[in-house]
Amino acid sequence: MTVPALWYPTDKCFVDGGWVDPASGETLPLENPSTGAQIGRIARGGKADIDAAVAAAQAARHGEWARLPAFERGRLLTHMGRLVLTHVDALAEIEAADVGKPLKQARADAVALARYLEFYGGAADKIHGETIPYLDGYTVYTLREPHGVTGHIVPWNYPMQIIGRSVGAALAMGNCCVLKPAEEACLTALAFAAIADEAGFPKGVINVVPGLGEEAGAALSEHPGVHHISFTGSVPVGTLIQRAAASNVIPVTLELGGKSPQLVFEDADLDAALPFLVNAGIQNAGQTCSASSRLLVHRPIHDQLLERLAARYEGLRVGPASADLDVGPLISAQQKSIVSGFLARGADLEVAARGKIIDTAPVGGHYIAPVLLAGVAPDHALARDEIFGPVQVVIPFDDEDEAIAIANSTDFGLVASVWTSNGARQMRAAKAIHAGQVFINNYGAGGGVELPFGGVGKSGHGREKGFEALYGFSTLKTVAALHG
Ligand code: NAD
Repeated sequence: MTVPALWYPTDKCFVDGGWVDPASGETLPLENPSTGAQIGRIARGGKADIDAAVAAAQAARHGEWARLPAFERGRLLTHMGRLVLTHVDALAEIEAADVGKPLKQARADAVALARYLEFYGGAADKIHGETIPYLDGYTVYTLREPHGVTGHIVPWNYPMQIIGRSVGAALAMGNCCVLKPAEEACLTALAFAAIADEAGFPKGVINVVPGLGEEAGAALSEHPGVHHISFTGSVPVGTLIQRAAASNVIPVTLELGGKSPQLVFEDADLDAALPFLVNAGIQNAGQTCSASSRLLVHRPIHDQLLERLAARYEGLRVGPASADLDVGPLISAQQKSIVSGFLARGADLEVAARGKIIDTAPVGGHYIAPVLLAGVAPDHALARDEIFGPVQVVIPFDDEDEAIAIANSTDFGLVASVWTSNGARQMRAAKAIHAGQVFINNYGAGGGVELPFGGVGKSGHGREKGFEALYGFSTLKTVAALHG
C-alpha cells in the first residue's frame, strides 16, 4: 500500500499558520508497517521549532482568538468536523499506510475525529461559571478561562482519535495548541493542521511540530511558555513529562497504559460476550491503551469458554492494512521485538490458540499472530505487564471476591468489564474495581466521545473525552465584588 496523494506537505512543521522547514533542516524516515517500506519523510523538529510554535501560540492567545465568542469557536470546530468528513476516505488510507491498521479501523478513527470536533464544537459555549451566595454586600461568581497555551504529546496508535479528544477539547475552551505527534506515525496530525487551516482557524491557534520524543517532545514538555500538558503514551515517558511539568508548576493530564480485565461470571451471556472478549484484545493488533489483555473466567464455565475463545482465535487472520483483515502488523520492528520478548518470557504457559498470518503478507511487515494463553497465574509477568501486542491471557477464578482481587492486582487501572446477569453483582463489581471506566455486559461502549476517559494508578490521571475534559483544559477564577 502506498500513501494516497497528499494535499499538504509531510516534511514540514505547521507553525503560525504556515508550513515551515524544521530549523535543523533534517528529516526522519517514515515507514509503512505493513511492508517495511519507506513511505516518506517527516520534519525533525526540535527546540527551535517548539520555541517558534509556542511563541506563535502565545501571540494567538492574545489576538482575535481571545475575542471570539465561545459559540464562534464552537462553529469553527463544528465546521472543521464537517471538513474532516469530506476527507474521511483519504484520512483512512493515510492512517492505514502510516499506522498499519486495517482500513475499516482507520476509517472509524477518521469518523471519530469528526465526532470529537462536532462534540466539542457543540460544547464550547456550554461550560458556565457559577454565582455563589456569600456575605451581605458581595456578589461572587466564577469564570471558566482557558489555560493559555496547551501542549499535546500523542502516540502513534490512534493519532486521529487522540488528537480529536485532546486538541478538540483544548480549542473549545479557547486555548492555543502546540501538538507533537509521534515520530512513528504523524501524517494525519499534519492533515489535522491542513484541515484546521482550511476551516479558517486564526494563525498560531494550532501548531504541529513533528520530531523525536527526546528532542521536540522534551522541548515542549519543558517549555516555560506552556500552561498545560496533555500526554498520551507510556508510563516511563509520562513520568518524565510530569517531572518537567513540576518544574514549571503546570497541570498535566496523563493518559498512560493499562492491563484491563474482563470478568466473566458463570451466569454471563457467553454468546453476547464472545466477540467483545476477543476483539477488545486484538483490535489494532493489541496496541490499544484500553486493550483487554486479561480474561478472568469463573471456573464453572472456564473450559467451555476457553474452547469457544480458542475457536475464535483460530479464525483470526493477520495481514496488511489494505487487506482489511482482523489484525494488521505491529507499528515497528522494535514493537515486534518487544512483544516477541514477552512471548519468550511466557514460554512456560499453555498456548490455547493462535491466529494466522496470511501467506501473502509482505515479508517486510511486522506481523505477529494473535496468541491466547491459558491457565495463567495472576502474578505472572504476562498477566501484570502491558504487552501492547495481540496477546490475551486467561486467568481462572473461583468466586467474586477473588475475581475482584485479581482485577485490582496490577499497577494499572484504565478500563474493565463485568459479564454477568446478576444485577447486584454488576453494581458491586463496578464499585469495587479500580479503573477509570467500567463496562457492564459490553466492552468500550462503542468508544463514545461523550464518555469521560482516563485512568487511576499507573494508567495516569486527569480525564479526557466528554464534558469532563473541558474542566481539565480550563482554569477557574473566582470574582468577589464588595458593593455594599
Ligand atoms: P511513548 O511514551 O514512547 O511515546 C508517546 C509520545 O511521547 C510520542 O509522541 C513520543 O515522541 C513522545 N516522547 C517520547 N519520549 C519523550 C520525551 N523524553 N519527552 C517528551 N515526549 C517524548 O509511547 P508509545 O510507545 O508511542 O505508545 C504506547 C504507550 O502509550 C502504551 O503504554 C499505551 O498504553 C499508551 N497509550 C495510552 C493511551 C491512553 O489514552 N491512556 C492511548 C494510547 C496509548
